[in-house]
Amino acid sequence: MAADLPARGDDALRAGVAVTDITPKKPVTLAGYGSRKDLSQGVHDPLSARAVAFEQGGKRLVLLSTDLIGFYKGTAEVVRKAILSECRLQPSELFLCGIHTHSAPTPALAGSEAHPNNIEYTEWLTRRLVEVVREALGRATPVRIGFGSGSSPVGINRRQPFLDKDGKPQIKLGRNPNAMTDREVQVLKIARADKGELAAVLFAYATHSTSLGPKNYIVSGDVHGLAEQFVEKHLGGGVVTPAFAGASGDIDPWCRVLPEFKTANGWIPEPVLLGTLLGEEVVDVANAIQKLDANGPVRSAMKVVDLPRKTLDEAQTKAASILSAFHLTVGRVGDVAFVGLGGEVFNEIGRAIKTASPFPHTVIITHCNGAGGYVPTKQSYDDGGYEVKTSPYLPAAAEQLVQEAVRLLRGL
Ligand SMILES: [Zn+2]
Repeated sequence: MAADLPARGDDALRAGVAVTDITPKKPVTLAGYGSRKDLSQGVHDPLSARAVAFEQGGKRLVLLSTDLIGFYKGTAEVVRKAILSECRLQPSELFLCGIHTHSAPTPALAGSEAHPNNIEYTEWLTRRLVEVVREALGRATPVRIGFGSGSSPVGINRRQPFLDKDGKPQIKLGRNPNAMTDREVQVLKIARADKGELAAVLFAYATHSTSLGPKNYIVSGDVHGLAEQFVEKHLGGGVVTPAFAGASGDIDPWCRVLPEFKTANGWIPEPVLLGTLLGEEVVDVANAIQKLDANGPVRSAMKVVDLPRKTLDEAQTKAASILSAFHLTVGRVGDVAFVGLGGEVFNEIGRAIKTASPFPHTVIITHCNGAGGYVPTKQSYDDGGYEVKTSPYLPAAAEQLVQEAVRLLRGL
């Protein structure tokens, strides 16, 4: 199987793209909110997995976007192992990522708490993901790529200050327009070298895909998923649009945790509105990218980062049991770098990596190759709030992560 996919030794930059449907066929438990126990009750929009496989000089880099929350509970390891062995990839050559929609199945392969439908789904999913990567690798042809950057107001800092009943300042999950966010929409355009035909438009944007909340039981890709679908429909021609969640540990969509897709009296459902707004920016940025080149190299590197950890109490230990070690994966295709963070980092950390990166363009991707939990900024520990409370790490983690990412980037 894998033997028919030899890495090519020639110098032309090549890429292949593929997409596959991963919408659950049976009701499943949806990921992201512990309070939501029942099974899903229908599908608003389909879930997909989208792969872009680059290769040059015998090296490969596979960016795999899935319309899922990410890969918690040890599922990243199992899914990655299947893809790596079947497609003969090096560990650093695969970015297995989730867009972090909270309206998609909880990936689960074992455990008494996992619903049998979710286990069946995840086994099926694993095979689909192996197949979509194999297809993308098998379709590799010479390409030209170009990078562009836009801006979108869809995401907003969610750490809202308030005074508790004792008059003490606290932070709750809400909307804080005064705090920092990262509005950058990062777009990579991939066109076939022969006829210039557009093959893929990849984008990264920093927001949680949580416009739908724990009361929603309808499957959806939420903001990122609806943006992908909009761009693919608008551009047509089989263009594939893999989305990635940027550094969005402290960013939510402008409208958040809604109970449903509201349509009464001409109301446009907020996930559709926000997804379309983001998608239109992706299209505008992609259309404006004129300079495309075919330069490599393709490189990648990966390490487990030993971030300084808190001493956890019993409840925190239980909550953290779904998390993995923090994996840091970096890659480059020509002068575009990719930083895959295996957790959810605050937007300030993503910005710091982009600023310190030795590359002209550095795409930040979270929920990549594992789920290591929240990495807040050092300053945010003084203010507290949900992410600080649930993070397994100490305040020094953010700075160490930025340093490690930049060090790995310099080595590419
Ligand atoms: Zn999250």
